[in-house]
Amino acid sequence: GPAADLVRRLTRWADDFPEPGVRFADLTPVFADPDGFRSVVDCLAALVPDADLVAGVDARGFLLGAGVATTLGTGVLAVRKRGKLPPPVITREYQLEYGTAALEVPATGVELTGRRVLLLDDVLATGGTLAAAADLFTSAGAQVVAAAVVLELEGLGGRSRQGDYPVTSIVTV
Ligand code: IMP
Repeated sequence: GPAADLVRRLTRWADDFPEPGVRFADLTPVFADPDGFRSVVDCLAALVPDADLVAGVDARGFLLGAGVATTLGTGVLAVRKRGKLPPPVITREYQLEYGTAALEVPATGVELTGRRVLLLDDVLATGGTLAAAADLFTSAGAQVVAAAVVLELEGLGGRSRQGDYPVTSIVTV
C-alpha cells in the first residue's frame, strides 16, 4: 500500500549507530512527510477500529499514538521510560544487552481495567520493549488487542518474544 511504499522510500538508514555494527532505521523523514505520516497513521488506525485506548511507547511511539488516537477518536496514553512519571506508577523492567530498562504508566488517574489497547511503536527490533509494554497493560487488567509498528527488523526475532496479541508491521526488512 501507499504507507509501505513511503516507509521504504523515506526511511534513512544509519550505519554504526548507536554503536559500531548496528544499522539504525531512522523514520524521522517518514513522519516529517505529510503523505508519509498520514498514510502510516491511517494504516495503523485501520487495524483495530474498536480499540478504546491508543498507547505509544517512548518516544517516537508518542507521535504515532497521537495521530492514531485522533483518527480513531480515542484518548492516547504515553508509555514512559523509568522516572518520568510521578508516583504511583506501574513499572515493568526488561533486559537490555547491558543492564535493564523499565517502562511505566500511571497507576491512578487512567482506568486501565478492561480497556482495549492498541499498542504502538516505531520499530520492532529484539522485541523486549514491545513485550514489556504489553505486559504492563496486561498486569493492569487491560487487554492488548493489537500491537503494531511501522518497521520490523525481522532478523532480530522480536516477533517471537511477543505474547498473545497480533503483531502487525507496515514494512518488514
Ligand atoms: P527492541 O526492544 O530491541 O525491540 O527495540 C525497540 C525499541 O528501540 C523501540 O522503542 C525503538 O524505537 C528502538 N529501536 C531499536 N532499534 C531501532 C532502529 O533501528 N531504529 C529506530 N529505533 C530503534
